[in-house]
Amino acid sequence: MIEICNVSKIYENGVVALRDMSMQIPEKQRTVFFGPSGCGKTTLLRMIAGLESITSGNIRIPPSLKISFMFQNDRLFDAITVKENIAYGIDQRTLSKSDLARKVEHAARLVGVDSILEQKCKTLSGGQRQRISLARALIKEPDLLLIDEGLNSLDQTSKYELIDTLIKLQETKQFTLLYVTHDAQEARKVGQNFIEFKKEGD
Ligand code: ADP
Ligand code: ADP
Repeated sequence: MIEICNVSKIYENGVVALRDMSMQIPEKQRTVFFGPSGCGKTTLLRMIAGLESITSGNIRIPPSLKISFMFQNDRLFDAITVKENIAYGIDQRTLSKSDLARKVEHAARLVGVDSILEQKCKTLSGGQRQRISLARALIKEPDLLLIDEGLNSLDQTSKYELIDTLIKLQETKQFTLLYVTHDAQEARKVGQNFIEFKKEGD
Protein backbone atom coordinates (compact mmCIF):
# COMPACT_ATOMS: atom_id res chain seq x y z
CA MET A 1 0.00 0.00 0.00
CA ILE A 2 1.18 3.48 -0.89
CA GLU A 3 -0.39 6.04 1.40
CA ILE A 4 -0.80 9.68 0.51
CA CYS A 5 -1.70 11.59 3.70
CA ASN A 6 -2.91 15.19 3.53
CA VAL A 7 -0.36 16.10 0.91
CA SER A 8 -0.10 19.66 -0.37
CA LYS A 9 2.33 21.11 -2.84
CA ILE A 10 2.93 24.81 -3.25
CA TYR A 11 5.68 25.70 -5.72
CA GLU A 12 8.13 28.51 -4.97
CA ASN A 13 6.24 30.85 -7.30
CA GLY A 14 3.12 30.38 -5.14
CA VAL A 15 1.26 27.98 -7.46
CA VAL A 16 -0.80 25.52 -5.43
CA ALA A 17 -0.42 22.28 -7.39
CA LEU A 18 -2.12 20.05 -4.79
CA ARG A 19 -4.14 20.86 -1.71
CA ASP A 20 -4.60 18.41 1.16
CA MET A 21 -4.83 15.26 -0.92
CA SER A 22 -5.19 11.83 0.69
CA MET A 23 -5.51 8.41 -0.90
CA GLN A 24 -4.43 4.80 -0.59
CA ILE A 25 -2.95 3.09 -3.60
CA PRO A 26 -3.01 -0.72 -3.56
CA GLU A 27 0.12 -2.59 -4.56
CA LYS A 28 0.35 -4.96 -7.55
CA GLN A 29 -2.53 -3.23 -9.32
CA ARG A 30 -2.97 -0.61 -12.04
CA THR A 31 -4.04 2.79 -10.75
CA VAL A 32 -4.76 5.71 -13.05
CA PHE A 33 -4.50 9.40 -12.15
CA PHE A 34 -6.76 11.26 -14.53
CA GLY A 35 -8.10 14.77 -14.95
CA PRO A 36 -7.41 17.85 -17.03
CA SER A 37 -4.00 19.35 -17.55
CA GLY A 38 -2.63 21.43 -14.70
CA CYS A 39 -4.39 19.70 -11.79
CA GLY A 40 -1.31 18.22 -10.13
CA LYS A 41 -1.04 14.66 -11.53
CA THR A 42 2.60 14.98 -12.57
CA THR A 43 3.44 16.74 -9.35
CA LEU A 44 2.08 13.87 -7.24
CA LEU A 45 3.83 11.25 -9.37
CA ARG A 46 7.12 13.11 -9.00
CA MET A 47 6.63 13.35 -5.23
CA ILE A 48 5.94 9.59 -5.03
CA ALA A 49 9.16 9.00 -6.97
CA GLY A 50 11.07 11.31 -4.61
CA LEU A 51 11.84 13.78 -7.40
CA GLU A 52 9.92 16.66 -5.84
CA SER A 53 9.69 17.92 -2.26
CA ILE A 54 6.40 17.76 -0.34
CA THR A 55 5.21 21.09 1.11
CA SER A 56 3.08 19.46 3.82
CA GLY A 57 1.63 16.05 4.64
CA ASN A 58 3.45 12.81 3.90
CA ILE A 59 3.76 9.89 1.52
CA ARG A 60 4.34 6.39 2.89
CA ILE A 61 5.89 3.87 0.54
CA PRO A 62 6.98 0.34 1.49
CA PRO A 63 10.76 0.27 2.02
CA SER A 64 13.14 -0.88 -0.71
CA LEU A 65 10.67 -0.66 -3.60
CA LYS A 66 12.46 -0.65 -6.94
CA ILE A 67 10.94 2.31 -8.83
CA SER A 68 11.06 3.10 -12.55
CA PHE A 69 9.75 6.32 -14.05
CA MET A 70 8.71 6.76 -17.69
CA PHE A 71 8.62 10.46 -18.45
CA GLN A 72 6.38 12.44 -20.77
CA ASN A 73 9.44 13.46 -22.72
CA ASP A 74 11.27 10.22 -23.52
CA ARG A 75 14.68 11.56 -22.41
CA LEU A 76 16.60 9.22 -24.68
CA PHE A 77 20.16 10.00 -25.68
CA ASP A 78 20.06 10.62 -29.43
CA ALA A 79 23.70 9.97 -30.16
CA ILE A 80 23.85 6.42 -28.79
CA THR A 81 22.14 3.21 -29.86
CA VAL A 82 18.82 1.76 -28.79
CA LYS A 83 20.72 -0.98 -26.96
CA GLU A 84 22.78 1.53 -25.01
CA ASN A 85 19.73 3.60 -24.14
CA ILE A 86 17.90 0.56 -22.76
CA ALA A 87 20.97 -0.54 -20.80
CA TYR A 88 21.02 2.89 -19.19
CA GLY A 89 17.96 1.80 -17.14
CA ILE A 90 20.01 -0.45 -14.85
CA ASP A 91 23.26 -0.31 -12.99
CA GLN A 92 25.50 -1.79 -15.66
CA ARG A 93 28.51 -2.13 -13.36
CA THR A 94 26.87 -4.97 -11.43
CA LEU A 95 26.40 -7.18 -14.50
CA SER A 96 28.61 -9.18 -16.84
CA LYS A 97 28.51 -8.19 -20.51
CA SER A 98 26.53 -11.29 -21.44
CA ASP A 99 23.98 -10.84 -18.63
CA LEU A 100 23.52 -7.21 -19.63
CA ALA A 101 23.03 -8.14 -23.30
CA ARG A 102 20.49 -10.79 -22.32
CA LYS A 103 18.53 -8.36 -20.15
CA VAL A 104 18.56 -5.66 -22.84
CA GLU A 105 17.33 -8.09 -25.47
CA HIS A 106 14.61 -9.39 -23.17
CA ALA A 107 13.34 -5.87 -22.35
CA ALA A 108 13.49 -4.91 -26.04
CA ARG A 109 11.50 -7.98 -27.02
CA LEU A 110 8.79 -7.18 -24.48
CA VAL A 111 8.02 -3.91 -26.28
CA GLY A 112 8.89 -4.96 -29.84
CA VAL A 113 12.12 -3.04 -30.51
CA ASP A 114 14.49 -6.02 -30.61
CA SER A 115 15.09 -5.62 -34.37
CA ILE A 116 16.51 -2.10 -34.07
CA LEU A 117 18.93 -2.49 -31.16
CA GLU A 118 21.96 -1.25 -33.10
CA GLN A 119 20.32 1.92 -34.47
CA LYS A 120 21.06 5.37 -33.14
CA CYS A 121 18.03 6.85 -31.36
CA LYS A 122 18.10 10.07 -33.38
CA THR A 123 16.90 8.16 -36.45
CA LEU A 124 13.71 6.83 -34.85
CA SER A 125 10.04 7.84 -34.84
CA GLY A 126 8.28 9.15 -31.75
CA GLY A 127 6.48 5.83 -31.41
CA GLN A 128 9.68 3.80 -31.45
CA ARG A 129 11.22 6.19 -28.96
CA GLN A 130 8.41 5.64 -26.49
CA ARG A 131 8.76 1.86 -26.77
CA ILE A 132 12.48 2.21 -26.02
CA SER A 133 11.70 4.47 -23.12
CA LEU A 134 9.34 1.78 -21.76
CA ALA A 135 12.00 -0.92 -22.26
CA ARG A 136 14.47 1.22 -20.34
CA ALA A 137 11.96 1.45 -17.47
CA LEU A 138 11.21 -2.30 -17.54
CA ILE A 139 14.80 -3.56 -17.63
CA LYS A 140 15.13 -2.67 -13.96
CA GLU A 141 12.28 -5.08 -13.15
CA PRO A 142 10.55 -2.42 -11.07
CA ASP A 143 8.10 -3.10 -8.23
CA LEU A 144 6.56 0.26 -8.98
CA LEU A 145 6.30 1.67 -12.51
CA LEU A 146 5.28 5.31 -12.92
CA ILE A 147 4.15 6.42 -16.38
CA ASP A 148 3.45 10.10 -16.99
CA GLU A 149 1.53 10.56 -20.25
CA GLY A 150 4.19 8.25 -21.60
CA LEU A 151 2.45 7.02 -24.73
CA ASN A 152 1.34 10.33 -26.18
CA SER A 153 3.43 10.43 -29.33
CA LEU A 154 1.98 7.14 -30.52
CA ASP A 155 -0.81 6.98 -33.04
CA GLN A 156 -4.05 5.51 -31.65
CA THR A 157 -3.45 1.93 -32.89
CA SER A 158 0.14 1.71 -31.63
CA LYS A 159 -0.89 3.30 -28.37
CA TYR A 160 -3.56 0.70 -27.67
CA GLU A 161 -1.23 -2.11 -28.75
CA LEU A 162 1.38 -0.90 -26.32
CA ILE A 163 -1.24 -0.51 -23.57
CA ASP A 164 -2.26 -4.16 -24.14
CA THR A 165 1.39 -5.14 -23.80
CA LEU A 166 1.70 -3.09 -20.64
CA ILE A 167 -1.40 -4.65 -19.06
CA LYS A 168 -0.18 -8.19 -19.84
CA LEU A 169 3.24 -7.39 -18.37
CA GLN A 170 1.68 -5.94 -15.23
CA GLU A 171 -0.50 -9.04 -14.83
CA THR A 172 2.46 -11.38 -15.30
CA LYS A 173 5.05 -9.52 -13.28
CA GLN A 174 2.64 -8.11 -10.69
CA PHE A 175 4.27 -4.72 -10.36
CA THR A 176 2.33 -1.70 -9.17
CA LEU A 177 1.50 0.64 -12.05
CA LEU A 178 0.69 4.32 -11.60
CA TYR A 179 -0.41 5.79 -14.90
CA VAL A 180 -1.13 9.45 -15.58
CA THR A 181 -3.41 10.49 -18.41
CA HIS A 182 -5.88 13.25 -19.30
CA ASP A 183 -7.70 10.90 -21.70
CA ALA A 184 -10.80 9.23 -20.21
CA GLN A 185 -10.87 6.37 -22.71
CA GLU A 186 -7.22 5.57 -22.09
CA ALA A 187 -7.83 5.76 -18.33
CA ARG A 188 -10.64 3.19 -18.54
CA LYS A 189 -8.55 0.88 -20.67
CA VAL A 190 -5.52 0.89 -18.37
CA GLY A 191 -6.96 1.22 -14.91
CA GLN A 192 -8.28 -1.02 -12.19
CA ASN A 193 -8.42 1.90 -9.75
CA PHE A 194 -9.09 5.50 -10.69
CA ILE A 195 -8.17 8.68 -8.94
CA GLU A 196 -9.75 11.77 -10.38
CA PHE A 197 -7.88 15.05 -10.09
CA LYS A 198 -9.74 18.33 -10.23
CA LYS A 199 -8.44 21.80 -10.87
CA GLU A 200 -8.08 24.06 -7.83
CA GLY A 201 -11.45 25.73 -7.28
CA ASP A 202 -13.56 23.27 -9.35
P1 ADP B 1 -0.81 17.90 -14.48
O1 ADP B 1 0.18 16.81 -14.45
O2 ADP B 1 -2.15 17.49 -13.94
O3 ADP B 1 -0.92 18.57 -15.82
P2 ADP B 1 1.14 19.41 -12.96
O4 ADP B 1 1.44 18.64 -11.74
O5 ADP B 1 2.09 19.35 -14.08
O6 ADP B 1 -0.33 19.03 -13.45
O7 ADP B 1 0.96 20.94 -12.58
C1 ADP B 1 0.10 21.40 -11.54
C2 ADP B 1 0.24 22.91 -11.40
O8 ADP B 1 1.54 23.23 -10.90
C3 ADP B 1 0.10 23.67 -12.71
O9 ADP B 1 -0.54 24.90 -12.44
C4 ADP B 1 1.53 23.89 -13.14
O10 ADP B 1 1.64 25.03 -13.95
C5 ADP B 1 2.24 24.07 -11.82
N1 ADP B 1 3.64 23.64 -11.84
C6 ADP B 1 4.12 22.44 -12.23
N2 ADP B 1 5.45 22.39 -12.08
C7 ADP B 1 5.83 23.58 -11.59
C8 ADP B 1 7.10 24.15 -11.20
N3 ADP B 1 8.22 23.46 -11.29
N4 ADP B 1 7.08 25.41 -10.73
C9 ADP B 1 5.94 26.11 -10.63
N5 ADP B 1 4.73 25.64 -10.95
C10 ADP B 1 4.67 24.39 -11.43
P1 ADP C 1 4.95 6.52 -35.74
O1 ADP C 1 3.57 6.76 -36.29
O2 ADP C 1 5.85 5.76 -36.64
O3 ADP C 1 4.97 6.01 -34.33
P2 ADP C 1 5.17 9.21 -34.82
O4 ADP C 1 3.72 9.54 -35.05
O5 ADP C 1 5.61 9.01 -33.45
O6 ADP C 1 5.62 7.94 -35.69
O7 ADP C 1 6.06 10.33 -35.48
C1 ADP C 1 5.79 10.80 -36.79
C2 ADP C 1 7.10 11.21 -37.46
O8 ADP C 1 7.69 12.31 -36.74
C3 ADP C 1 8.10 10.08 -37.41
O9 ADP C 1 8.16 9.43 -38.66
C4 ADP C 1 9.41 10.73 -37.09
O10 ADP C 1 10.20 10.89 -38.22
C5 ADP C 1 9.08 12.08 -36.53
N1 ADP C 1 9.38 12.18 -35.09
C6 ADP C 1 8.49 12.14 -34.08
N2 ADP C 1 9.06 12.29 -32.89
C7 ADP C 1 10.38 12.42 -33.13
C8 ADP C 1 11.51 12.61 -32.30
N3 ADP C 1 11.41 12.71 -30.96
N4 ADP C 1 12.71 12.70 -32.89
C9 ADP C 1 12.82 12.62 -34.22
N5 ADP C 1 11.79 12.46 -35.05
C10 ADP C 1 10.59 12.35 -34.52
